[in-house]
Amino acid sequence: MKTKKEAAAIVAALENEYPLAECFLDSETAWQLLVAVRLSAQCTDLRVNATTPTLFAKFPTISALADADPKDIEEIVRPCGLGKSKARDINLCMKMLRDEYNCVVPDNMEDLLKLPGVGRKSANLILGDVFGKPAIVADTHCIRLSNRLGFLNSTDMYKVEMELKRVVAPEKQNDFCHRLVEHGRAVCTARKAMCEKCVLAEYCAYKKAEDKKAQKAAAKAVKAAEKSSADSKT
Ligand code: SF4
Repeated sequence: MKTKKEAAAIVAALENEYPLAECFLDSETAWQLLVAVRLSAQCTDLRVNATTPTLFAKFPTISALADADPKDIEEIVRPCGLGKSKARDINLCMKMLRDEYNCVVPDNMEDLLKLPGVGRKSANLILGDVFGKPAIVADTHCIRLSNRLGFLNSTDMYKVEMELKRVVAPEKQNDFCHRLVEHGRAVCTARKAMCEKCVLAEYCAYKKAEDKKAQKAAAKAVKAAEKSSADSKT
């Protein structure tokens, strides 16, 4: 676990390293971001960004997507994978926005979670990026880095969200998550943690544990060398 002070130091180091904190998904409106984030499940942001212009050109409003035949949506979003379920969710989500929310994306977690295909991760992205509210988007990068850095020891999305909410200052939370994504792609990737060039090394539990292991191994090697040298003299 980290203290609020340690969390603030990590936030500051990332701010310094990545001055721009931006969402990687392209969108011009709140509902477009909702659509983009649904498409991003198990898909790269690049692919989503390559797909949404066609989708939004053909269906330029909430009502247009609500009225669409899901098969026509699926036709366009298929490259993002899970085309059928994504198309169905988008269609149902836009129907609910039109029929129950007067075509206005809600600005609170409770209502956002009622929308088909919208989970806490998506809802937090909307709350933070669209409405400027404190929000932790516990995506794969956020979960991995929170664990490696030592904020907590759990891959449970909800626990990660709650723990980061506890220690990261509310006004920093949203941008912090965008920066974790950048850092998770550039330096602390799922395949390899490049600790030697990481600006968070001094705060990182994983790095400390790795250093300890290396020190132990080095001490063991020295001992073995000393023993073998002593043996050769007898
Ligand atoms: S020090 Fe290593 S494990 Fe820790 S955040 Fe940086 S790259 Fe990741």
